[in-house]
Amino acid sequence: MTLQLDVSAAEAILAREKPRRVVLNAPDGLMPLTRRFAREMEARNPQLETILIADPTYGSCDTVDGDAQRLNADLAFHVGHNITLPKLGRLTYTIDVWDDIPFDTVASEAAKVFRSRGFGTIGLVSFAQYLRSLEPVSAILRKAGLETLIGKGAGQLHDGQVFGCEFYPAFNIREKVDAMAMLGQSSFHALGVCLSTGKPTFMLDPHLGEVTDVQPLADERLKRAILSIYKARDANSFGVVICLKEGQMMPEQSMKLKRRLESFGKRAELIALREVTPDRINSIGGLDAFVQTGCPRISTDGYTFSKPVLSVPQTEALFKVLSGETLERDFLERHHWL
Ligand code: SF4
Repeated sequence: MTLQLDVSAAEAILAREKPRRVVLNAPDGLMPLTRRFAREMEARNPQLETILIADPTYGSCDTVDGDAQRLNADLAFHVGHNITLPKLGRLTYTIDVWDDIPFDTVASEAAKVFRSRGFGTIGLVSFAQYLRSLEPVSAILRKAGLETLIGKGAGQLHDGQVFGCEFYPAFNIREKVDAMAMLGQSSFHALGVCLSTGKPTFMLDPHLGEVTDVQPLADERLKRAILSIYKARDANSFGVVICLKEGQMMPEQSMKLKRRLESFGKRAELIALREVTPDRINSIGGLDAFVQTGCPRISTDGYTFSKPVLSVPQTEALFKVLSGETLERDFLERHHWL
């Protein structure tokens, strides 16, 4: 595997903008590459000062434009989320990172799995680093006698790209395919694809050469998400959390949810947090449950909260339950979870 940062795009921005100070942020897995890039930029541009912001970043929703302004930087590089937009906010440029690991072995293995399961048409999706592998994998599957589809991009998403919360290219082709193949070592993305499309979804891991059916894990996460909704139904008091991350802050939506909760006779108060973690939630006493308008995956993945902490689609499902409607198991089958 070789990770390649788009140095020429970054150098073109530096040559045009001539910054004195540049702030960088990147996901943890790309931090060593980004640090090395910062050192190299300074070596090539002696007047340049770089500052790496080492807080966690989980998506293009998690930029540091405001921090760059407070640090008197002239611009910021947000590394590795490979979106369609070259610029976000006032100072932030997006810099792509690609992984050229071959998918040949795992794609051939996947073709065998799909044929053995009787699937004829496969939808292909991936996340940032592996988008360039979609076409080569498609060619391998076609050569093995399968049909393939890569959905059109939308908004920040390239063709075939998914985020953990946004699934347009997968969702829009779900009626035309028998199963989805998610390229890359990320059960996080594969789970999202499975739950948002309602299709059998397989993760193609090029590192281990393994093809994994994520349905059992998706069933478990869905069960957990539903359980939280039913626990929240019985709550009297709610914290409505506005997430302070730059691309996740939706105060108007939070206020709408608060008013809706109050219309069902619940007590609700607005709370703002940057990191919605069990520690921070536990530090807020006197509330029975929470809803949050930040990253929806906080509510269903990773953390185990001692009280219900619902995402936006879960909260909308809660409103249905409170209105006396039946909660259908497909409430996460939508193109966007915000
Ligand atoms: S909101 Fe969450 S899932 Fe969506 S892009 Fe941001 S970090 Fe990823």
